[in-house]
Amino acid sequence: YSSEQQNIIQAYEWSTKLFHHVLRHTSDGKDGLNYLKNRGFELETIEHFQLGYSPQKDQFLSSFLKGKGFELDSLTEYGLLTKRDGNSYHDRFIGRIIFPIKNHQGKVVAFGGRSTQPEMEPKYLNSPESQLFQKGQILYNFHDARKHVQKNNREIVLFEGNLDVIKAYQAGVKNAVATLGTSFSEYQAAILNRYADHVIICFDGDKAGKNASYKTAKILKKAGLQVRIANIPNEMDPDDYIDAYGAEKFKKQIIQAAESFVSFYLNHLKKQYNLSLDHERVTYIEKALDIIAQVENSVERDFYLKELEDSFDLYRDTLEKEIEKRRRIKE
Ligand code: ATP
Ligand code: MN
Ligand code: MN
Ligand code: MN
Repeated sequence: YSSEQQNIIQAYEWSTKLFHHVLRHTSDGKDGLNYLKNRGFELETIEHFQLGYSPQKDQFLSSFLKGKGFELDSLTEYGLLTKRDGNSYHDRFIGRIIFPIKNHQGKVVAFGGRSTQPEMEPKYLNSPESQLFQKGQILYNFHDARKHVQKNNREIVLFEGNLDVIKAYQAGVKNAVATLGTSFSEYQAAILNRYADHVIICFDGDKAGKNASYKTAKILKKAGLQVRIANIPNEMDPDDYIDAYGAEKFKKQIIQAAESFVSFYLNHLKKQYNLSLDHERVTYIEKALDIIAQVENSVERDFYLKELEDSFDLYRDTLEKEIEKRRRIKE
């Protein structure tokens, strides 16, 4: 790190401690603490993730950091403060829950800030990108999650939101990381590939989450990782699911039951065709065969073919010939 960057890291470290202290031990932090408690977060979890609260004061952090001797201009550049009228420095995350975002060496290099009131927009405000913080290169909680990969069959669970990671941790799923509000990148896939063999994608249950699951799975597979996809019910996200059904059900019915990429893809594909029309049904079956032919494990291939055979009342011989044809072309 350059000396400016070391300085910024120190400022983030102080700010993390200050906001955490406010949340845990002061009346200024009550709103934040109540918000987290109402959403089911326990003190131990709040400690572990060093969550904080930026109080309803315009120059709370800025005067604290000034008192510590920090040069406020560069703190503005790295997103800790904002500057007004050319020379006055103001807090950036006023009234928000603070999520310290660590880089993969474990240093806090950015904050995520969640509003505690529905009318406070935007819902999430993050530190801007900087030389220390590139959203496409950092995964939330990666530094801690990788310690839990080995004992979980070299598996890592990928979420959309930091609150999903935190709630999953509380539920006992500690090999958990999240993207930071941007789409998953090849760079991030390469990082995961260095520590894990399997990734479970556990995105939100809405349409956006399903589409993102598909795109993310493609990127992960291209990087050489094995991928499974968890199926969160419609209009819920992992955090909602754990609140509604509890940790055990989350681990059993969602994480352990995550489906293979091929089943997920076939289901995804199925929804795009009207299977009661002959020609659409044929198109679906051909596309499904294209995918199944790419599966290297013949037992697994057999399993999907059986499903096609049964669902569409087809001859097994025909299906197998079609698979052979496709596999020969591939070679
Ligand atoms: P909550 O449960 O508090 O609503 P969430 O994690 O479910 O949070 P989503 O709306 O599902 O929130 O968004 C997922 C992630 O995308 C967030 O964790 C955040 O990192 C990012 N995000 C969402 N909205 C914004 C925004 N307005 N600006 C920047 N990032 C955002
Ligand atoms: Mn503490
Ligand atoms: Mn969500
Ligand atoms: Mn949520």
